[in-house]
Amino acid sequence: GGAGTASTTRQVKLEKESELRIEVANDTPLRLRLLNGTAEIFGTELPPQIWLTFPPHFKFAVFTWYGATIEMDGSTETDYTADETPMVSYVNVHAVLDGRRNQAKASPESSQGPRVIVVGPTDSGKSTLSRMLLSWAAKQGWKPTFVDLDIGQGSITAPGCIAATPIELPIDPVEGISLEMPLVYFYGHTTPSQNVDLYKALVKELAQILERQFTGNAESRASGMVINTMGWIEGVGYELLLHAIDTFNANVVLVLGQEKLFSMLRDVLKSKPNVDVLKLQKSGGVVSRSSKFRQKSRSYRIREYFYGIANDLSPHSNIANFSDLSVYRIGGGPQAPRSALPIGADPVANPLRVAPVNFDRDLLHVVLAVSYAQEPDQIVSSNIAGFIYVTDIDLQRRKITYLSPTAGELPSKYLVMGTLTWLET
Ligand code: ATP
Repeated sequence: GGAGTASTTRQVKLEKESELRIEVANDTPLRLRLLNGTAEIFGTELPPQIWLTFPPHFKFAVFTWYGATIEMDGSTETDYTADETPMVSYVNVHAVLDGRRNQAKASPESSQGPRVIVVGPTDSGKSTLSRMLLSWAAKQGWKPTFVDLDIGQGSITAPGCIAATPIELPIDPVEGISLEMPLVYFYGHTTPSQNVDLYKALVKELAQILERQFTGNAESRASGMVINTMGWIEGVGYELLLHAIDTFNANVVLVLGQEKLFSMLRDVLKSKPNVDVLKLQKSGGVVSRSSKFRQKSRSYRIREYFYGIANDLSPHSNIANFSDLSVYRIGGGPQAPRSALPIGADPVANPLRVAPVNFDRDLLHVVLAVSYAQEPDQIVSSNIAGFIYVTDIDLQRRKITYLSPTAGELPSKYLVMGTLTWLET
């Protein structure tokens, strides 16, 4: 500790089943460590004595089942202790899921473990609950699959995507989900209303691939899935929830913080006796985020993709000829002229139509996905390798400059454009 009054180090004693809720300051990181006892951050146990550094704006809670002392160094926006949390009900759900995983492992007939889908309005703690369930399962040696259908605030990769990844270890409280080989599909927008049919098509693709992977992997099949969803629960949003439940064959639906959504889902899923719909309380610690904050954190996620969470990655600037790359857009585009259609047909745009995009200044500052497609007509059904960020378009020399996480040639020449842009700051 520093001398005199300048020291910002302080200790907090937590009673059993309570948590320390923290919002890190806007400009400086916070260091924190577990001095004694045991504690976890969203399901992942803290190592004793080791200082962890949390970046500015970070919002989280340190929870203890049996009591702990925490030491903090640095300033916070807020920090307070809460002894009323829904953690006991959450861990009870985990225990039930664990029982089902064991059943699945033991019986060759019903070898499918629980497929959990977490639903609820924005800021109800869906991502956080998904994370806890995954980390608790991983701690017990399972390898559950995390499926993230939230294109706005996804936690696997950049915004505008749906993705899945196996979770083999409790999730790191600072780094989040490890980015080793996630299965990612690029939707390209941060709201599903932009192209509902495309969103559904990608959900279907993802589900099919996972289904295939489960067939050959008893361990991940028994471990099951945890599916995180968007906070859009009205109208088309509700329809998309039903579509996801159906497409992934979810058998446990966890509804966070909304009575109305719970009763609607319970009624509509009554006809499926193998699907359990459970209502869970929202934690008082969940922080509401303004649309401005969401926009900022999306931009931060893109920065993180290229530069790492602590500026620990160095992306490469590459130059390519226009002729070496092809950019496509999905949906919309110019409609077929009426004369080219059968009599009586309306010239509606095909939402899954793949159309080439010209190289021009509109590509500047756009985040493009690098598709694994081998032909343009495979773009909708193909997953992506990652992203590039366009930093310059030289129309005279017909060259494009872009940022990429790696140097050298891209894994494919097919790039996909949505409405995702970023201003490097
Ligand atoms: P979205 O509307 O984006 O789908 P969500 O329902 O998934 O949101 P979360 O992302 O889980 O909500 O939570 C919102 C924020 O609140 C996150 O920054 C999360 O870290 C924080 N948070 C959740 N639970 C707690 C808690 N108990 N104490 C402090 N912060 C918390």
